[in-house]
Amino acid sequence: MRRLRLADIERLRRARGRTVLLYLTDRCPVGCAHCSVGALPAGPRITDRALFEEIVAGIAAEPRVEAVAVSGGEPFAERRGLVLAVDAFADAGKDVVLFTSGHWAADRCPGWITGVLERSSTIVLSTDAFHRAAVGRTRFGRAVAHAAGAGCHVIAQILDEPGAATFARDVLAEALGGDWERQAEVNLITPLRAGRGREVFPIARHRAVSELGTCPLTGSPTVRYDGVVTGCCNESVITGGGPRGLRRRVTGAAELRDALAAFRADPLLRAVGSVPADGLVRLPPFAGLAGERHPDVCGLCWRLHEMAETGGDGPRLLTALLGDPP
Ligand code: SF4
Ligand code: SF4
Repeated sequence: MRRLRLADIERLRRARGRTVLLYLTDRCPVGCAHCSVGALPAGPRITDRALFEEIVAGIAAEPRVEAVAVSGGEPFAERRGLVLAVDAFADAGKDVVLFTSGHWAADRCPGWITGVLERSSTIVLSTDAFHRAAVGRTRFGRAVAHAAGAGCHVIAQILDEPGAATFARDVLAEALGGDWERQAEVNLITPLRAGRGREVFPIARHRAVSELGTCPLTGSPTVRYDGVVTGCCNESVITGGGPRGLRRRVTGAAELRDALAAFRADPLLRAVGSVPADGLVRLPPFAGLAGERHPDVCGLCWRLHEMAETGGDGPRLLTALLGDPP
């Protein structure tokens, strides 16, 4: 099994169809005030196990997919679903990347968690001042040690605040020793204004279309535990926001694979992922969007989808310009 580093994950996510995010649950015991998906200790979770098994089978059977990220909510709060999914993906030869807060890291790592870690490639452990109210430095460090001890590459993911990088490096060095960089790395991230984060973080500056660039996430669809499939891993879209065109509902493995193929070929997604925003609004069907301002490229993407849903020949023109899907 490969140990995927951050650069490997980013490279795979940008290649259409090579990664999928499995959103395993809306439940999380941590309940951070800034949670971008609004996860809560009593949040919705898997109830239709037959559907969930179909979903997992559909992802496992998809030959293009090399790596599956598993997130939520807190994946380790969904023991049966997590074990089933990680075993199925590892058996199918796919790299598994886990996203978690490490809240589960007791002194002794429970056997079932060690089993999940041993079958996973990489663990992304999130921390910041919000997380630390429930998952303190000691517990976070134990999660680092348990995951590295089971063979995972560790990515400590932390909000880019004053002192954040030093904190993360210190914890990694305490848990793994002076040569921690052989097994771990630090990823500094910016705040997300989604979910409860909308109430916590200031509104971003609205930018002209010429400043928006392309979206790096259009090649990485998300499959929710309840059968909703989205064309990207934008948190607002995953939790029900945004245009209809970014979302499909499936009832089994075959429908899931059809949905993944449809998103792979989707002309709007392919365009948003490969053509700079100011190039898109120069096309006649989208020229009306040229003067708009948005906090990020997602705002423009939603407007492009809204225009396509009301008719017009934008998607047809994009298909002609972009050629056959990969
Ligand atoms: S940010 Fe992560 S740890 Fe915090 S409530 Fe959301 S899913 Fe849980
Ligand atoms: S730009 Fe569109 S496809 Fe990309 S993350 Fe935002 S909503 Fe998703």
